[in-house]
Amino acid sequence: MKKIFLGAPGSGKGSYASRIAPKRNIPHISTGELFRKNIEEETEIGIKAKEFMDNGDLVPDEIVIEMLKNRIENEDCQNGFILDGFPRTIPQAEKLAEITDIDIAVNMDVPDAIIIKRISSRVTCKDCGEIFNIITHKPKEDGICDKCQGEVITRPDQKPEIIQNRLKVYEEQTAPLIDFYKNKGILQNVTCNDFYKSVDEMAEKVLDTILSFTKNATNPIKKIIETNKQ
Ligand code: AMP
Repeated sequence: MKKIFLGAPGSGKGSYASRIAPKRNIPHISTGELFRKNIEEETEIGIKAKEFMDNGDLVPDEIVIEMLKNRIENEDCQNGFILDGFPRTIPQAEKLAEITDIDIAVNMDVPDAIIIKRISSRVTCKDCGEIFNIITHKPKEDGICDKCQGEVITRPDQKPEIIQNRLKVYEEQTAPLIDFYKNKGILQNVTCNDFYKSVDEMAEKVLDTILSFTKNATNPIKKIIETNKQ
């Protein structure tokens, strides 16, 4: 199954994708992570992307589309994937529709107050990208990733002024994707109103939503009724 996880920065989509993908035996593809790897390896893509990312702006569509297209052509994507952070603009979504059919878009619906609190207390593993939160989900050992023992840091784009720009960019350029996928009949919303709700519990809720959508998808009339209810 080909899945898209939508949501503002800090909505939890990356944390849920990293838990659900191994359970479904499909890759978790985060375009943000792909860019960070490219920056670290000082590739041409990394050099082009760095300034946009440091400012909290989007990397131009043509760069991200080319990178994503190459990634999903890999053998490991044949049985599906979870896209986290792509698409982020309508032109990216249109291009993706030309490349492949998406089965479900899950939108993480989280109030702004929770987003801001979460994103400002977030730390990330420099090596594997695992996300932690210094209030609700601390690494077991300070500054060290539970998963790969890498160094856990505050990402440069988590500074307050950059976060504000990322949220503005989300509202202007990415939020319209909610209607784009709703109109295609494949949107499912998952709401989280509780800052302290555990990541594992929320990931279960997201997975349940996906599984029940898959079941309903076998009955096209039921699927249309459910989608219109949202
Ligand atoms: P993320 O890790 O998903 O929060 O992404 C970090 C940064 O990478 C974003 O703020 C953008 O600068 C860049 N980026 C990631 N995905 C995309 C995309 N689909 N389109 C444009 N820029 C992206």
